[in-house]
Amino acid sequence: MKKVAIVFNGGTISMKVDPRVQAAVPSLSGEEIIAMVTGIEKYANIESYNFSNVPSPFVTPDDMMKLSKYVKDLLNRDDISGVIVTHGTDSLEETAYLLDLTIKNNKPVIVTGAMRSSSELGYDGPANLSAAICTAISTEACGKGVLVCLNGELNSASEVTKANSMSLSAFRSPGFGPLGIVDNNQVIFYRDNLTRHHIDTEIIETKVSLIKCVSGIDSRFIDFCIDQGDEGIVIEGMGRGNVPPKMIDGIKRALNKGIVVVLVSRCFEGRVLDTYGYTGGGKQLRNMGVIFGDNLPGQKARIKLMLSLGITSDVKEIKEIFEKGLYNI
Ligand code: ASP
Repeated sequence: MKKVAIVFNGGTISMKVDPRVQAAVPSLSGEEIIAMVTGIEKYANIESYNFSNVPSPFVTPDDMMKLSKYVKDLLNRDDISGVIVTHGTDSLEETAYLLDLTIKNNKPVIVTGAMRSSSELGYDGPANLSAAICTAISTEACGKGVLVCLNGELNSASEVTKANSMSLSAFRSPGFGPLGIVDNNQVIFYRDNLTRHHIDTEIIETKVSLIKCVSGIDSRFIDFCIDQGDEGIVIEGMGRGNVPPKMIDGIKRALNKGIVVVLVSRCFEGRVLDTYGYTGGGKQLRNMGVIFGDNLPGQKARIKLMLSLGITSDVKEIKEIFEKGLYNI
């Protein structure tokens, strides 16, 4: 029988309601959660590891890097067929994407969590965990990169985002949909993700900020980032990748200081392109040296930029990491 390692990290899957605060807090250990996945011993040998027990807004990029190293070490063990990471769903997509970018191993790595705590009717932790275990032992999941498994759906970590704050089907891959499903314990893939990347680094540059464009926004947030010594700034622009005109001076100041600026869209679906030629339009941004981040949401573009800055500060190299195969460079 195959052996699966489960690395527990808190989040709602580990929570129950504390009667004093009358709200959910992390409290269950990995062993207590596994005990609720009844009958799983017929499918796999489980080894559990309690890596952390925090709500996912507590998780920092440095924590994610430590987790990546931890998962890599488990994957390097011959006796382990796949690794599951449990995580709070709020920042799950950031951790899953960082793992996907930094881990190069054909064995399945599955990230899962829960939308309802163990104190709620319809706690989805055990069902999500059993689907993740079925995926971790399936040969079909090998070589697919890090997968996010909730609600019987398998999404690529590089595509997925949390799209609903309460639904059991909170995780979506905008524009593309899931890679596959887990149905009746069977893992079925309908498509593959061909644009996954690997960034070979053990260093992360955390001085990277995210600014979302809103109507009438000016350069104040950008100037603040410059003053704080940021190495990179991700801008969630409007639509096809445009910013209000008063941001242009700030972006110029940032670029002149050698700060790497990456542009993505605040739209849920679609990618950025230099379609528009007016002040603040994508054409001007591209000519100024802003890097285009395809269809990534800002929080994931930030993860990619932090890892890219971990291996190089050369803007050309970072541009290549973001744009190769996606834009004419
Ligand atoms: N706030 C929780 C967390 O991210 C939500 C969850 O786990 O679903 O830790």
